[in-house]
Amino acid sequence: GVKVRKLNTLTKACSEYISNPYNLRVLQWNILSQALGQMNDNFAKCPDEALAWNVRRYLIIEELIEYCPDIICIQEVDHFNFLRHVLGTQGYKGMFFPKPDSPCIYINGNNGPDGCAIFYRNDKLDLLKAETRILEIWKVQSNQVALLMILKIKETGQEICVTTTHLKARKGPLLSTLRNEQGKDLMHFIERHCDNRPLILCGDFNAEPTEPIYGTLLASSLGLGSAYADCDTTDTDANLTSACREPAYTTWKIRGEGEVCHTIDYIFYTKDNLEIEAVLEMPSEEEIGEHRVPSFSYPSDHFSLVCDFRVGRC
Ligand code: NDP
Ligand code: CA
Repeated sequence: GVKVRKLNTLTKACSEYISNPYNLRVLQWNILSQALGQMNDNFAKCPDEALAWNVRRYLIIEELIEYCPDIICIQEVDHFNFLRHVLGTQGYKGMFFPKPDSPCIYINGNNGPDGCAIFYRNDKLDLLKAETRILEIWKVQSNQVALLMILKIKETGQEICVTTTHLKARKGPLLSTLRNEQGKDLMHFIERHCDNRPLILCGDFNAEPTEPIYGTLLASSLGLGSAYADCDTTDTDANLTSACREPAYTTWKIRGEGEVCHTIDYIFYTKDNLEIEAVLEMPSEEEIGEHRVPSFSYPSDHFSLVCDFRVGRC
């Protein structure tokens, strides 16, 4: 069993924690595309003003930098240049890879396609290589993408592989099959570039832990675990499967069609060479509020996941 501290109870200041080259703090978040959130999602209880870009952008930046993550993996990014500019002032560098036919570009007043992005702290990490992938389903390109970076921790020379993705949305047996196929293609893509480096795989997989893709990822030859599941330390839970130990929700929203509260976002990691120290807990139901999210407090319908890893030392 891993000994875990919840991130929100850490006594050390952020800057002190991340200055250690054996510590790696990773943030995963579907930030909610501005075009989709405002025009497509049909959030029933969220005031229009809370969805305005001028309101959301400060909340998004605040949440991205609050815990000083070394690595930021985000999805539904349709304001990459804004994020690059602001995060640049905070010491981050980043890369963006758009979806080939993003639904955003069909929306009036859009700001370009949405896609995945990775930012990394430039004083701690060097970018050695970046790779992109349009995920294939049965050898045919889909509309979902992945972005991979090989990063080197400057002080120790330790190399790591970071990958992020946003898989096909919507419910149903066919869609869950398609996601599983995307997951297989994603693992092949990662296997081609990762070698034996520690891997951190973050994303919005649009799949609950009961879906086939969850098992596919954990059964891969890379030896993956799910950070939030493996961080659950209560004695009885140790006997439960990984899927049963996931948080109760990573997204919680009320659309015209009804309320949706489930876990579809994950931070997967190679168990051999990364050790989990802590995760940031999801906000409580009370903190979230009866109208759920997005809201004036939480700018996305997904919550951010933050995990502290130890790397390169036993
Ligand atoms: P996905 O299935 O991957 O979903 C696209 C986005 O829709 C995701 O960001 C997803 O968010 C969001 N979403 C999921 N459920 C809902 C919901 N109930 N209401 C509103 N938004 C939701 O889409 P693809 O990229 O594969 O594109 C296909 C979709 O986009 C089709 O529905 C198609 O109609 C539309 N499209 C239209 C085009 C056009 O107008 N010509 C062109 C291209 C696409 P999350 O991951 O957070 O759930
Ligand atoms: Ca969405």
